[in-house]
Amino acid sequence: MSPRKGLNGLVVKIASRCNLNCSYCYMYNMGDESYRQLPKIMTDAVVDQLIERTARHCEDFKLRDFEFILHGGEPLLAGKPFLTRFVEKAKKRFEAKRMKLRIGIQTNGVLLDEAWCKLLSASSINIGISIDGPAGWHDKYRKDHQLNGTHAKTLLGLRAAQNEKCKVGVLSVMDASSDPRSMYEYFNQLGIDDLDFLWPDHNYEKLPELYIRRSRAPGYTPFGDWWIRLFDCWFADRFSKPRIRFLNQVILMILGRDAGFESIGQEENRYLIVETDGGIEASDYLKACGDGFTKEGLNVGNHEFSEAFDTPLMKMHRQSHQVMSETCMQCKIREVCGGGHIAHRFGNGNGFDNPSIYCFDLMKLLTHIQNTLLGQLSAKTIREAGLVEMSYEDVLESINMHNC
Ligand code: SF4
Repeated sequence: MSPRKGLNGLVVKIASRCNLNCSYCYMYNMGDESYRQLPKIMTDAVVDQLIERTARHCEDFKLRDFEFILHGGEPLLAGKPFLTRFVEKAKKRFEAKRMKLRIGIQTNGVLLDEAWCKLLSASSINIGISIDGPAGWHDKYRKDHQLNGTHAKTLLGLRAAQNEKCKVGVLSVMDASSDPRSMYEYFNQLGIDDLDFLWPDHNYEKLPELYIRRSRAPGYTPFGDWWIRLFDCWFADRFSKPRIRFLNQVILMILGRDAGFESIGQEENRYLIVETDGGIEASDYLKACGDGFTKEGLNVGNHEFSEAFDTPLMKMHRQSHQVMSETCMQCKIREVCGGGHIAHRFGNGNGFDNPSIYCFDLMKLLTHIQNTLLGQLSAKTIREAGLVEMSYEDVLESINMHNC
């Protein structure tokens, strides 16, 4: 009998094009051109296959709870009639079997208006909006096709969602040259409950600008230093503050709880992508590894999701926190770090058999969080969680990098 668990959810690409052209976008600006071959909007026939295939997957694996994250491109380009049909069909199929279905949507927010927000709210769809900070930072990257900044329109979208009492969170791609305190204060005053910062999509072939200017080395950790300053502001804030997913997950893991997600931890990645043509693929972020990199020939029209458990890339993605490089396997903090996000390990020489491009940054951040918690927790909690002080240098030593 298969010991494998079913999926937790699917990222459903209902639109393959976008009304924006963000400079760092892994869909359009990191070397993958495969979106050009995809239908612009998912067809009703693919929606039907997707819902039926998903419901059967839930039945086969006895899943009671499943999540669809509607994504793109820009998912609002699919239009309100599409969304209404999608939600009605999905809810009808899942409710018939008494399965709980959660639906979220990740949008750039530019098209979000009162009518959209009413529809999303009435459909109990959680909204994630991409905002990279105040206008000066956001507009640096998040431009439309005429190269205009989009901050003002995105903020109107956020306000519309808040006015309609939608459940709304914000995703931001971190910029390590920004001031983390100003960023934190900016997002905090927006009045959002859920916030997360994404590590920029880079790998050993596409280095972050900061590592092009100055080589990666244990003594140079600009991303870790940024996160540490953000963590310190957030942790010290005794007032109402947003959850920051990455930090919340790290804290839970340090305290010995089961936690983690695609970027960090020990859990299996149990989300897959479905493209507008029904193609089943591993994490979207892997598109940054090359043109057509995520295509493995599976489609909801012909394949079960369980067949995706055994294709090379989807299997590797699923097990990315269990199957790590030799260096990561020696590392003292591997149970919390999990080798970082798989997309950040890629290089032409070793494939994914590398520590994260952000290895030193992660090490510095995670040891900082652990040591900060040690200073705050009761002796009993420290004892129960088995926490000990661990310096950055200790961890470097565990991977034989102390003298680099
Ligand atoms: S800190 Fe570096 S070596 Fe340790 S698990 Fe993370 S990526 Fe691997």
